[in-house]
Amino acid sequence: MVRGGPRRRITAARGQVIAQGRSAARWFGLAAALLAALPLTARAQRFEARSFQGLTWFKGNTHSHTTESDGDSAPEVVAQWYRSHGYRFLVLSDHNVFTDPARLASLVDSTFLLIPGEELTSQFDRKPVHVNGLAIPGRIEPRTDTTLVGTIQRNVDAVREVQGVPHINHPNFRWAFGARELLQVRTDPLLEIFNGHPLVHNEGGDGSAGMEEIWDALLSVGKRTYGIAVDDAHHFQGEFGPDRSNPGRGWVVVAAPRLAAADLMRSLEAGSFYASSGVALEGLEVGPETLSIRIQPQGDFKYTTTFIGDHGRVLARVGGLAPSYRLKPRDRGLRYVRARIEDSGGARAWVQPVFLER
Ligand SMILES: [Zn+2]
Ligand SMILES: [Zn+2]
Repeated sequence: MVRGGPRRRITAARGQVIAQGRSAARWFGLAAALLAALPLTARAQRFEARSFQGLTWFKGNTHSHTTESDGDSAPEVVAQWYRSHGYRFLVLSDHNVFTDPARLASLVDSTFLLIPGEELTSQFDRKPVHVNGLAIPGRIEPRTDTTLVGTIQRNVDAVREVQGVPHINHPNFRWAFGARELLQVRTDPLLEIFNGHPLVHNEGGDGSAGMEEIWDALLSVGKRTYGIAVDDAHHFQGEFGPDRSNPGRGWVVVAAPRLAAADLMRSLEAGSFYASSGVALEGLEVGPETLSIRIQPQGDFKYTTTFIGDHGRVLARVGGLAPSYRLKPRDRGLRYVRARIEDSGGARAWVQPVFLER
C-alpha cells in the first residue's frame, strides 16, 4: 500500500530515486509511529484521580497524652503547647479516658481545633493493642477478644460504632503484631508508620519489619491503608531528649475545605494528607500519569525523594525541591506509588500512596 503510490509516478531515473526516498521516508514514518504507539499502549495505566485544588493544608497531631492518663501535663498545657507551635488541630488521646475538649473551649478558635479522642488501650496475651478513636462523642470501653486479631478488630469496631475514625497505634511496641495480623483487620483506614515515643521501634530490625515495610506489605495486597505520623507525647515538662516522649516529632498535614472535625476526618480517611517528622511540602499534584511534589525549603537542607511501589520496590530516587514520578511502561501491574522525602538531617515526609486504575 505504501509503495504503490510513489511507484506509479516514476517517470525518470532521477524521479525514481526521489520516489524511493519518499517511499523509504514513509516506511520510517510508519515504523516510528508504531514505535511511538507501543509505549503509549503499554502506558495505558493511570493514577486514580486525586485533587487538592481549593483545599487548605492543616497541620495536626492525632495522638497525645495528659495528666488524665499517663502524661505529665494538664490538658490545658498540652493543648497550649500545640497551639503555640503552629498546629491547627489536636486530638487528646488519653488511655481509656475521654478528655473532653469542651473543658478547653477558651483555647479553641478559628485557628485551632480540638478533636475529641481516646486511646483504647487493651491487650491480648500481654501484647499491647492500642487503637485511637478520633472524633468520638464520649468514652469508649476498650474491648478484648479470644484472639489477637479479634482484639484489634473489636476495638476498631468500637470506634466505628460511634462514627469515629480509628487508627492503629505502634504495632512494634513490645513487638505486638505486624502485617500478618493487620491484613485480617477490616475498616481501619490509618496506621501509625511513625510514632515519636522512644520505645516503639519504628524501624524494626533483626528480622522484624519496620513500619514502612509493614505498610508496603498491606498496600501490596490491596489493603488501602494510609500512613500517619504522630507524637504519642507524654512529656511536656523538664528536659526534652531522645529517651523522653516529647511533642513535636510526628504529625500529619491534612488537605481539607475547612478546619472542621468532619472535614478533617473525611480527608484522613481518603488519604488526602501527608505525614511528617520534619519535612514540609508546598504542594502535591496527581496527574493521570504523574505524581508531582513541591518541597518547602528550610535553611540549606538538601532533599532526596524516593518513589516507592508494590512490596517497597524503589522506583526512582530524585533530588531537588520539585521531584516527580511519571508512570513508565515497566510499571504495568503496579498497585500504587508513594513517596518518602528525606532531608539531609534525617527528617522525613511521607506522601500517601496514589493508586493506579485497575
Ligand atoms: Zn499506645
Ligand atoms: Zn499513646
